[in-house]
Formats: sequence, C-alpha cells, structure tokens
Amino acid sequence: MSTTHIDHHSFVNQKLSCALCHYNLYLQHVDNDCPECGLEIQRSFESLSKPLIIPKFSKRVTIGLCLEIVIVLSCILILLPRFALAILNWWSYITTRTPYQSALDAFPIIGNISWWNSIACYILVPIVFFLCTPKIHTAPSYYTIRTIYFFVVLIATIGFYASNGLDKLRPILESNFTSVLSKSTFDTIFQIVSMLLTAPGLFLVPISAWWLKRISIVIQKNNYIPLANTTIFIGYLYAFTILTQNIYSLTSGADAYTKWFTANTLSLLISLLYLSVGSLKILLSYKLIKNIRRDTIKQPDTSLIID
Ligand SMILES: [Zn+2]
Repeated sequence: MSTTHIDHHSFVNQKLSCALCHYNLYLQHVDNDCPECGLEIQRSFESLSKPLIIPKFSKRVTIGLCLEIVIVLSCILILLPRFALAILNWWSYITTRTPYQSALDAFPIIGNISWWNSIACYILVPIVFFLCTPKIHTAPSYYTIRTIYFFVVLIATIGFYASNGLDKLRPILESNFTSVLSKSTFDTIFQIVSMLLTAPGLFLVPISAWWLKRISIVIQKNNYIPLANTTIFIGYLYAFTILTQNIYSLTSGADAYTKWFTANTLSLLISLLYLSVGSLKILLSYKLIKNIRRDTIKQPDTSLIID
C-alpha cells in the first residue's frame, strides 16, 4: 500500500479519488469504505500502483486485447493457404527441381479475401490503438511507449492507404512515365516506393507485442515478460525477413531457379514466423484478459450496508 497518502493515525492526508466513484477520500480512515459507493478504501490505494484494476481502464484495455486476438486470428487464417503452397513448392523443388504445378494466382478469391482482410485490419488496428489504450499517467513507462506506438500506427496506416491508392493509379502513372523511363526502371521505382510505404506496417507486429509487454508490467505480472520479449523478438525477425525478401526481389544476377528457391524459402520462413508470433500474441492477450478481468474492482454489494 502507498504510505505517502496516509498520516500516522491511518487517515488519508492527501486528495485521493475513490477508484470507482471518484469521491474524494481525504480525511477518511484507511480501514473504512468509501462513504459514497461502499468500496473499501484499501482498493483505491491499490489502484494507485495497479491502475488497470479501475473498471473504466480495465474495460477499454480488455476490448483492445479481444480485438487484437481477432486481428491476429484473421491474419493466421489468411496465411494458411500461402503457407501450404510454400511447403508444396519447397518440397517440389527439393525432390524434382521444378516448382509445384499450381499457384495461388489460380485462386483469385484468396487474393480478394486477403485484400479485404488487410483493409479490415488497418481499420481495427487504429481503433485498438486510439480507443483501447487509455492514457494512464501513473504508469510512466507505459505512457512513453504509448507515444511511440501512436506515431507507428499513424505512419503505418497512412502508408498502407497511400500504397493502395498508388496501386490503383499504377496504369495512369505507367502510361505517363514509360515515355521517359524504361519499363523495368519504372517497375523498380514503383516497387521501392510501395515498399517504403508499407514497411512501417510491418513494425506494427513487434510494436503491438511491445504494448502487451507494457500491460504485463502495469498489472505487475512480471512473469509474463519473458513470453512478451520472445514475442517482440520474433515480431522483429518477421518484419526484417519481409524487408529482406522485398530487397532480394529487386536484385538480379542469380539464375531463375536459385532466385525462385530463395524467394520461396523466405516465404516459408515468413509464414512460420508469423504463425509463431501470432500464436504467442493470442496466448499473451488471453492471459492478460484473464488477469485483468479477475483483478478489476467490482461494484460493492450495497445491499449489505445497514443504515
Ligand atoms: Zn466510491
């Protein structure tokens, strides 16, 4: 219990808001209940060091964590067909040195679902960030990370919609610029610009894991930190592997087979990394939700108060 708010006769000697009804508990005895709502004053003290037991914070963070699980689950489901194809391609190359005789391009519906899923995610991610990470001034490390998270979400969301807009404009740009540039130069420049626009989005994966770590610290669940750190680490590996794949696709020189094999191996690695980071995120979010719900202050049973 924080002792800075209590005098030596165990009376509250500073302004202290009730964690439930915000009644000022100044001059109340610490063993009493809040005169307004009946909550034990001890719990309002507890909320100073564990702000997420306050119902208004706990509710918002819990909604954010549930949405996080929905986002990750939908991305994992979308990934599964690509993962299966990468394995088939890889196995086919090892055994017969030829690509597996089918490609996802043969199933345009997968591309369509995947596109709509990205749109849905880039609506949900800003919602999770802007509505479900309350400002908690009493948790300074959480507060700083929140600011960094803010800029990453903002830049990533703008980048995502800009790159989608650019894709739609591609035919117009191509017809205008190919009179001064060669087709291959135009393609390379276009690919680099798209890559720069979408790259910040890749870092939402480790950054949101970073947010899960801060929540573990705020609820004082330090035994979740190794799990959170592993999730962050795999999240960064995932982001850098995609960047490597993008940069590799720009290089030339290797023969077609080597190039194809390397690209496919990287795809397989990216799928495996996302499956790992996604599962860890779901596990961690679930553990956090369970803890936050258990610790949240409940409305006291006022029927027991006799006056
Ligand atoms: Zn109260």
